[in-house]
Order: sequence, then structure tokens, then C-alpha cells
Amino acid sequence: LTLLGIESSCDDTAAAVIRQTEGQTAQILSNEVFGQTELHADFGGVVPEIAARAHAEKLDLMVEVALQNAQLSLSEIDAIAVTAGPGLIGGVMSGVMCAKGLAAGSNTPLIGVNHLAGHALTPRLTDALEFPYLMLLVSGGHCQFLIAHSVMRFERLGGTIDDAPGEAFDKVAKLIGLPQPGGPSIERAAKMGDPTAHRLPRPLLDREGCDMSFSGLKTAVLRARDALVASQGGLHEADQNDLAASFQAAVTDVLVEKTRRAIEAYLSHDPPTPAIAVAGGVAANTQLRAGLASLADAQGVAFTAPPLKLCTDNAAMIAWAGLERFRLGHRDDLTLTARPRWPLDDSAQPMLGSGK
Ligand code: ATP
Ligand code: FE
Repeated sequence: LTLLGIESSCDDTAAAVIRQTEGQTAQILSNEVFGQTELHADFGGVVPEIAARAHAEKLDLMVEVALQNAQLSLSEIDAIAVTAGPGLIGGVMSGVMCAKGLAAGSNTPLIGVNHLAGHALTPRLTDALEFPYLMLLVSGGHCQFLIAHSVMRFERLGGTIDDAPGEAFDKVAKLIGLPQPGGPSIERAAKMGDPTAHRLPRPLLDREGCDMSFSGLKTAVLRARDALVASQGGLHEADQNDLAASFQAAVTDVLVEKTRRAIEAYLSHDPPTPAIAVAGGVAANTQLRAGLASLADAQGVAFTAPPLKLCTDNAAMIAWAGLERFRLGHRDDLTLTARPRWPLDDSAQPMLGSGK
């Protein structure tokens, strides 16, 4: 099976081609991403209208390049998978319209994919991970523990009650004067900083279960920054590094400790072959990956983290989630609509005509 995947739910316009021969590991034949970071740089965040326009402009080109690099023509594609939500509605609509046009024009089956399912199923693309597994999904807009039971069924164990960690990385970077996206720039600065320089909170660790909170952490960084600015008139590079390192350490501590609790809940809940996987943009963080790997090791649980390029938004994961659905017989038609909200633990439900 050969699938074309299209992704445009946030600020990356992406297209990819993957191929899987039954019983073998899937191959990524091409995986193209046009990032919009520069277009939004002056605004301190992603501007939905600018994103939607840029997606509309770049989608055709990305599809063309993805096909070219895979050395295939559209007629050799078995199905087209597209992110149908959740995300910024203008961008998702651009992608869905592009996919519909291609599908209708070439008489190719169309499959709407949940963006979060794309992230959550990526470990099955890269490591052929078997169901069920425990998933920590940490990205720009989401943070949750899920038991992945099947392609269609994800059970939520808990998650953030306010910000997502990726969002916190981005906001903290802005606060301390580091470039967007905040995750990579904070990670870079943190390497040169002292993680114990600032005593930041570890929110909700005193509470049972695996719910998390990150907005208080952001406020604590703001206070620490303001104190530095008040006492010395500004932030030196060393201060940025220390704030970045202290923040990254706090996020890692919270995520690792809550993962420990999720593993315990999962093990008592679902005994067979325990495995844990992490996915989403924040899963690209080296310190978090290392923390989770050693936790899993200590708990005797297998651990999988996709390569960095497949953690942040990409279309290979969408093609893969589409392939998994296609194989189970799922198809969408030209009534497929873009959904701004689409919780993952709801994805077993059939997609209805009107976005929910
Ligand atoms: P969602 O998937 O929830 O809809 P999104 O698609 O915008 O959100 P992703 O592309 O999955 O998010 O992830 C982007 C986020 O990941 C950004 O907030 C970014 O700062 C963060 N991120 C990327 N690399 C790193 C890193 N090395 N360390 C920490 N965070 C990172
Ligand atoms: Fe994402």
C-alpha cells in the first residue's frame, strides 16, 4: 500500500508518501515540511489567517515535491490521508480541500485523520510497536496519557488541566527573550544553564493521579525574570540559560513523575506486554526522552520515542495513521469536513458531516 499524507493543522505545511508491503515495516518514501516560523516571527505566535493563507499557497507544491521525491505519480497512490482536525480551522480546511481535489481528480480513496492519532500512532510506524501501549502525548496544544488499545480506540488516563507543555515552552521562550519555537531554543539555552538556579514549582505532584498543570510554572518563570530585571536592569545570556534550564528541569520532573504514576495505573489496569511510548513535538526534547527512558528501564517497561523529525508535525505520521485506518476498511468521501476540535478518545465515533 502506498499513501500520500497531507498535514496543515498548525504552522507546518507538509506532505509525505509512505509505503508498506504487508508484514514488513513501512518505508517513508518522502517527507516534506514547509515551516512557517518566519512568517509568524513578528507576531509572537501563530496568526491563524496568515497560516491559512500560507497553507493554501504551499500545499500543491508540497504534494508535488513529495510525489517527485518518492518518484511516484498520483495514479500510483492507493489512498490520500489528510488531517481533518483538530487544529486551526483555516489551515485544516486548506488541507482537506486540497486532498478532496486530488482524490476527486484522480479517483483515489480519501481518509480523514485525527492529527493527534497521527502523533499517537507514530511509534507503530517507526518501531512497529504492538497494541496496547501507554502513550504520553505531549505537543504544542495537548498533553495527555492514553492507552492505545487499537487504531480506533484511545482511552484517556489524565492530562493537563491548563496549558500544554509545548505552549509553555513557547511562552517561556518569549518571556525570557528566546526565539520561537520555544522548545528547541530553550533546550539549546538550557545546555549552558544551571537547572537549580531557580526554585520553580512542580505543580500537582502533591495530587494523586496523572493530571498535570503547567500554567503556574510559566507564571513562576515570569516572576523570576521580573526579579532579575528589577535588580539588574535586564537579562544576561547566563540568566536566560539558567531560567531555561530551571524551567526545562521542572517540566521534565513533572512529566516523568506523572508518567511513573500512569505506568502504575496502566500496569494494574492492563497487564500484557507493558510498553510506553512518547510522541508529539515536546517528545523531541532530549532531557525528557532521557528521563522517560530511565524511568521505563527502572520499571521494567519497554520504551519507544520516534526520531525527532517525526515528533514535531509532519505528514508521514498522517499518511501512516491513514494507512492503518485504510487497512481496516475505513474510507471517507467528499463530505469530509474540517473539525477545529476532535478529542482523541472520541475518534472511534464515525465522522459526522458537521464539525463538532
Ligand atoms: P498539537 O499537535 O497539539 O495540535 P502542534 O501540532 O502545534 O500541536 P507539535 O508540532 O506537535 O504541536 O509540537 C510543537 C511544539 O513542540 C511546540 O510548542 C514546540 O515548542 C515544542 N517542541 C519542539 N521541539 C521541542 C524540544 N526540543 N523541546 C521541547 N519542546 C519542543
Ligand atoms: Fe502536532
